[in-house]
Amino acid sequence: MTMTANKNSLEYAQELDQQDSLSHYRERFFIPKVNGEEAVYFTGNSLGLQPKSVKDYIQSELDDWAQYGVEGHFEAKKPWFAYHEFLTPKIAKIVGAKESEVVVTHSLTTNLHLMMVSFYRPTESRYKIICEKKAFPSDQYALESQVKFHGRTVEDAIIEVGPREGEHTINHDDIIQAIEDAGDSLAMVMIGGVNYYSGQLFDMKSITTKAHEVGATCGFDLAHAAGNVILNLHDWGVDFAAWCSYKYLNSSPGGVSGLFVHERHEFNQDLPRFAGWWGYDKETRFQMEPGFVPMKGAEGWQLSNAPVLGMAAHLAALDIFDEVGMTALRAKSDQLTAYLEDLINDISERKGHLCQFEIITPKSQNERGAQLSILAHGKGKTMFDALTKKGVIADWREPNVIRIAPVPLYNSFEDIFRFAKYLEESIS
Ligand SMILES: *Cc1c(COP(=O)(O)O)cnc(C)c1O
Repeated sequence: MTMTANKNSLEYAQELDQQDSLSHYRERFFIPKVNGEEAVYFTGNSLGLQPKSVKDYIQSELDDWAQYGVEGHFEAKKPWFAYHEFLTPKIAKIVGAKESEVVVTHSLTTNLHLMMVSFYRPTESRYKIICEKKAFPSDQYALESQVKFHGRTVEDAIIEVGPREGEHTINHDDIIQAIEDAGDSLAMVMIGGVNYYSGQLFDMKSITTKAHEVGATCGFDLAHAAGNVILNLHDWGVDFAAWCSYKYLNSSPGGVSGLFVHERHEFNQDLPRFAGWWGYDKETRFQMEPGFVPMKGAEGWQLSNAPVLGMAAHLAALDIFDEVGMTALRAKSDQLTAYLEDLINDISERKGHLCQFEIITPKSQNERGAQLSILAHGKGKTMFDALTKKGVIADWREPNVIRIAPVPLYNSFEDIFRFAKYLEESIS
């Protein structure tokens, strides 16, 4: 591309937007306003924005409910009885799975527990779990309670792999080494595919391969990965995974989650699981016979009938992903995040005497998604509050970390320029 303007100028950012073939998708979302102006919304990693189409998708279900009542299970335009099936092919593409390997159901932490009931099967000698240090709190509590449920202590059963002294991200070799060291005592590896705090993307393929080599199962929490980075769960051989839909997947606050179970477990009737009627073989479900006969594949882990209104919001968002495709999204995402990184480093260079911004997220695009986590050396919450006043919606973690995620579906290069400008003003 031929660029005329200086990269630190509005013209340059606008030129990038003009060359961006996905820029028009921004119009398909509601952008929050601050002081009457569009906010710089960089918290799509916490709660994705609302697609304008969501209202129609939900309205359609409300109309069918009004018209049909219970008959909507079969008479609705999208029959509720099988509503989750409309989402399956779309979510399968996003996580790189076969359709039989995924289902949209429940909430994320619930699904993590359901997965661990099946895939954390500690024995007398093989009972340890490897996870990443600074895992998301809900994951820590889920792991802790699973271990205690099996009569073990956290100290004995959970091995946390953390960054080396003085570093902020985890060295991949240290994860592989920890798996090797745990060997026969290791029952399961469970890691966040992208760490929520540092934005580090892990090499899920080689972690899975190594876990299997020592005889352990391997699963991932993809809350910060689904809709953000390219996933190939099937090919990587991952045993199980779960994610939420309200972060990069823009599917409403507390929106319904999804889970993945590799097809190699599809026919394994010996796997223990917590069952409910919606996991029962759908051909004979309504005969209501005693004795649980699971659906084949991931659907066999469903407990309850689908919360259709929330699923409708999810479907609206997934239809947009289907149109764009993860490859194009990821390409724009890399470019957005690199531009953001560039402008932040530039401020540190020019204004280092006032504030040094240290980006703790890995520099390599193979080791990160959209998010950058920035340490603001020498600056505290007042700087962040100044940013907020100017209309930046970002995430602050004490003592001095800013987490920002430019989202390729609706953030623009101009957003990044504005963010950098406000950031510089907030330290001057
Ligand atoms: C957002 C997030 C959660 C949230 O769990 P819910 O059950 O949806 O409330 C859990 N784990 C990780 C890693 C997250 O990023």
